[in-house]
Amino acid sequence: MANPKLKSVGKPSQNSNVIARHNPAAAVKTAYSPAEREEIFRRFSVQRPEPKGELEHSNPFTLVVAVALSAQATDVGVNKATRALFKIADTPEKMLELGEEKVRDYIKTIGLYRNKAKNVIALSQMLVDQFGGTVPETRDELVRLPGVGRKTANVVLSMAFGQPTMAVDTHIFRIANRIRLAPGKTPDEVEARLMKVIPKHYLYHAHHWLILHGRYTCKARRPECERCVIADICKSPEKSWDMAAPLVELPPQVIGEAVE
Ligand code: SF4
Repeated sequence: MANPKLKSVGKPSQNSNVIARHNPAAAVKTAYSPAEREEIFRRFSVQRPEPKGELEHSNPFTLVVAVALSAQATDVGVNKATRALFKIADTPEKMLELGEEKVRDYIKTIGLYRNKAKNVIALSQMLVDQFGGTVPETRDELVRLPGVGRKTANVVLSMAFGQPTMAVDTHIFRIANRIRLAPGKTPDEVEARLMKVIPKHYLYHAHHWLILHGRYTCKARRPECERCVIADICKSPEKSWDMAAPLVELPPQVIGEAVE
């Protein structure tokens, strides 16, 4: 099937190509009209009115640690390890008291655990030394913490501090490109484009909607189009079904149900 035509978003400009050459994010393309984008996210909002991340945490600090540990690991695997860890160390001070070796023991079922344990201790130390033991609320400060990249910072800003951000993980990157919602070659490019094409009033929850849609329906190996609520609107060349699934609110997420 031929690729659907991409539409430009924003006011057309005579020198848009010049702008695009200097700033790739300015050349935002999407296969969907504003009305179609509105409808896609309206349906996601009916399906999951209050979407939540699946990483267990009790405060901004445990969220930072959980997200940093989740790189190249599943949320289910991280939750199994952090349940016991966070019971005894839910602040930077307690984490430092525990020490790197013990942190390593708690998280050794997670990939790259040696390096991650080092980072957990180093970021706890920085929080105590430079931020009075609290998690900072700006992206620039967050990405200075060891083991915290732009994606982790975006998740923390959104989940801990209620700021609309778009942390592009593997699911979001795949969906943005697969369905041509905000195609891009890098996560940063996709992030900038999604921030422009998603209707503003849906931006706050859009991150979780897209992740959960990717995890449970628009899966990596075989998208389950017959179970998809946007199958009639979707313009993916990989789509195998044309009728939207019934639009109903889903039961609460079941942790551990996800299949990659
Ligand atoms: S129709 Fe298929 S490809 Fe399109 S969003 Fe739904 S699951 Fe993904």
